[in-house]
Amino acid sequence: MIVMKFGGTSVGDAAAIERLVTIVADARAEQPLVVVSAMSKITNALVALDDLIAAGDASAIEYAIAELEARHAVAADGLQLAAITQAPIGELFAALRQAAVAGLSQPSSPERRDLICGFGELLSSRLVVGAFDARRVQVEWFDARSAITTDDHFGAAIPRESEIEARAQRLLPVLTAGRVVVTQGFIGATRDGVPTTLGRGGSDFSAALFGAALGASRVEIWTDVDGLMSADPRVVPEARLLASATYDEAAELAAFGAKVLHPATQLPLVEAGIPIVIRNTFAPERPGTWIRADDGEEDALPVRSISFKPGVTVVQIRAPRMLGAYGFLRRIFEVFERHEVVVDVLATSEVSVSLTVDDVSRLDAVIRDLRLVGEVGVRAQRGVIAVVGRGIRETPGIAARVYTAIADVNVEMISQGASASNLTFIVKEADGPAVVRALHRTFFPEVA
Ligand code: ADP
Ligand code: ASP
Ligand code: MG
Repeated sequence: MIVMKFGGTSVGDAAAIERLVTIVADARAEQPLVVVSAMSKITNALVALDDLIAAGDASAIEYAIAELEARHAVAADGLQLAAITQAPIGELFAALRQAAVAGLSQPSSPERRDLICGFGELLSSRLVVGAFDARRVQVEWFDARSAITTDDHFGAAIPRESEIEARAQRLLPVLTAGRVVVTQGFIGATRDGVPTTLGRGGSDFSAALFGAALGASRVEIWTDVDGLMSADPRVVPEARLLASATYDEAAELAAFGAKVLHPATQLPLVEAGIPIVIRNTFAPERPGTWIRADDGEEDALPVRSISFKPGVTVVQIRAPRMLGAYGFLRRIFEVFERHEVVVDVLATSEVSVSLTVDDVSRLDAVIRDLRLVGEVGVRAQRGVIAVVGRGIRETPGIAARVYTAIADVNVEMISQGASASNLTFIVKEADGPAVVRALHRTFFPEVA
């Protein structure tokens, strides 16, 4: 079997869903499990709805839900879905209204946010099932929450892979019988059945979890670009397609801003060696990018791609009195651990440590505790640039070329990744796109 995951724009309207149906129907011999995201922008709208629920403005809530309803109704009409296949969509909107009433004027909680945000995938998957039905393709809707068991870290729940494997097995006979199965990305549930999500962009991760659980021969990620490219094509329009990449390269790029793949996607797949293939829903004839342990490209360019992640905050801790003393790093990391704040990029010297965080919601408490260790400085609105390629460490002069290319930019912090395949540094967020373009011209001069 194979897993075919379709992202937000790939289910964004009736025309996109029609493409999806054709693409999946063409792959039916391979027994596809279809994993879908919410229609584009719907998850953002649901996050906003959760804020409206907290604010308690009943008419604004009703307006927002009616807008969501209209967007799905337009798609259902475009797909000419019969009323009977539209009934579950009506039930979902009734449940969403009920959740809004139940939570009215109560402050948001991560648990409620996951409940509300999860409606996007439930809705889109019903539209997709309806589209298959309307075209007489045998199809079954599957509730991902009954298989994707997670812990209760709402907002970024951790999947329990062995339970997922056991629970997903019941899909195999359905797939073997030649029925297309459609399920949701992004959502799961705790053992007690409380809805959770895997975090924003998490549908790719869901696809990988299903792929690993079912021993898929590959996991296809269908999106709105040709594959993994040498830079975000929105920033560098002339970016080129990578025919292949390793799991490590893809993971580094994803972790540092290449939104095309969720950073955890490869995790469940590495052990079984299941490849990921990124494909373009709007140009299915193109080959896409193959991602595996060893892509067999001996003489690939040392630098494969350049990514940029905005919205990063840099925290610097200086403690001159720690010179020659031990325990400095441990004391710093204990603070982050205690407040459950994830650290991304790290650079150290003997008496100072710089690191970056994405999520600043608990930063005030972190800083208070860090002040007990040393002087603390904070710089917001920064971005991480990552230059990624497995040849970076072996190829002399890459760092020099990087710094020449960006000589006139103020680089604030440099970190050579512990893996052999990246070089990361911090710049002001506003400088990010120009830096990516300058680096791209340096390493891919033929397309500049
Ligand atoms: P989906 O909704 O299908 O999951 P996303 O919006 O999450 O799609 O990811 C696709 C987007 O990722 C592309 O539209 C592109 O702008 C962006 N992107 C960022 N970096 C890269 C890269 N290196 N290669 C390809 N796309 C990239
Ligand atoms: N719909 C979710 C999001 O927008 C998950 C995804 O698209 O992967 O974050
Ligand atoms: Mg995505």
